[in-house]
Amino acid sequence: MSTVGDSIDVIEPATERVIAKVPSAGMEETDRAVAKAKEAFATWRDVAAGDRATVLRRIAAAVEDQAMSLARLETRNVGKPISDALGEIGVVAATFAYYAGSPERLTGKTIPVPGGVNMTFKEPMGVVGLITPWNFPLAIASWGVAPALAAGNAVVLKPAQLTPLTAIELERIALQAGLPEGVFQVLAGPGSLVGERLVDHPDVAKIGFTGSTDVGKRISARASGTIKRVTLELGGKSANIVFADADLERAAAAAPGAVFGNAGQDCCARSRILVERTAMDRFLELLSTNVAAMRVGDPMDEATEMGPLITAQHRAKVASFLDDDTTVVARGSAPDGPGFWFAPTVVTPRSTDARVVTEEIFGPVACVMPFEDEEDAIAIANDTIYGLSGSIWTENGSKALRVARAVDAGTLSVNSNWSVRIATPYGGFKQSGIGRALGPDALDYYTELKNVYIAT
Ligand code: NAD
Repeated sequence: MSTVGDSIDVIEPATERVIAKVPSAGMEETDRAVAKAKEAFATWRDVAAGDRATVLRRIAAAVEDQAMSLARLETRNVGKPISDALGEIGVVAATFAYYAGSPERLTGKTIPVPGGVNMTFKEPMGVVGLITPWNFPLAIASWGVAPALAAGNAVVLKPAQLTPLTAIELERIALQAGLPEGVFQVLAGPGSLVGERLVDHPDVAKIGFTGSTDVGKRISARASGTIKRVTLELGGKSANIVFADADLERAAAAAPGAVFGNAGQDCCARSRILVERTAMDRFLELLSTNVAAMRVGDPMDEATEMGPLITAQHRAKVASFLDDDTTVVARGSAPDGPGFWFAPTVVTPRSTDARVVTEEIFGPVACVMPFEDEEDAIAIANDTIYGLSGSIWTENGSKALRVARAVDAGTLSVNSNWSVRIATPYGGFKQSGIGRALGPDALDYYTELKNVYIAT
């Protein structure tokens, strides 16, 4: 079935107004895009590595030049504060600049063996399908697009239907920067049509998916039909572990940003705040003051720290977590409508199997829980199906490292909220995903390793 003629109404979460109409692709458009990408791949893969690098560098420079207009678009489309959006567009430019350094460094090995020598090559895979979420639309897209193009692949990107605007701009920027037509295409449309067709398509070599664990499971099962390579960056329920010997003021100052950043719509949100029991009262007092002081409001205002949620439906889902199993211990403010506002909220659970403890909320709700000692903190932190990120706050360096090693998660930080750096690997353990984005390791997920033996 084709959806030619359909269009997507793009809504601004802060005003509930339609800000754009975007053509919605269906299966036929997906097939056409894949065929075009396959053709473009045949030449792009043979473009000299240095020339591929030049195009990526030009994309980085153009994104930087247009940072303010891209950031405004992202802010209006997602509702995120303009200061955050500007930071993310900076990440997009830096990601293209970083991977511009890799085409000429994608080398293999020579391995002497009896009777000859083996040589390894990192070959591009072909057509890569990227399926991305709405929370960090362009940043997450760039984490796939840049390494995939650097390695010589062609890319068809399906952004989330709610937030396609900056991806469409990136396609225009890439063409102007000299990327040959067809090497990078953006197809806005539903996951059930464009997404599933990309996953099923025999000419798509790999799917890079970022989104919920539920959809990730469906994609993983479907991809087995063509033994498709898949990387999955999925959900999280990360722990922010605060020991009594931590600098409590610093930990409590960082905690709101770690869970309410992007209005909590962050896969890395440290949404379970685990506090050593002896420090609980003091920590809660500090945290409550900081949450009350959060500036929630107009995302276009540079002073704003938190904007609205993405849709009314999502707000209703977040609100459903404030049920009989939770006690609200602190709450910030939020504007009245229009806009999908939700005040930053801190709760304590009445039981350890409350939904607020076990499920990803993806909204500005932090769940604070006590622990007794190091062993208990590790056990609670690991008591989840997820394993994306986490933080450890303590002034004891050996304890910090011991706990970081013991927590089953892909990306941890000590005395910091930090999750993502372009030069370092990022991804999840357990049901938070398969594979790694960013850093040099990401290139392994966009190349196939070939081994050639020459008898001498
Ligand atoms: P989602 O899973 O609903 O959608 C993600 C993308 O998948 C969208 O483009 C959607 O259209 C598409 N899709 C939906 N159904 C599909 C299907 N059957 N086949 C193929 N594609 C399909 O996720 P979301 O609501 O956009 O994003 C929120 C989720 O993403 C959260 O769980 C969050 O933790 C996760 N996330 C993870 C990371 C990470 O790096 N680990 C980063 C951002 C978001």
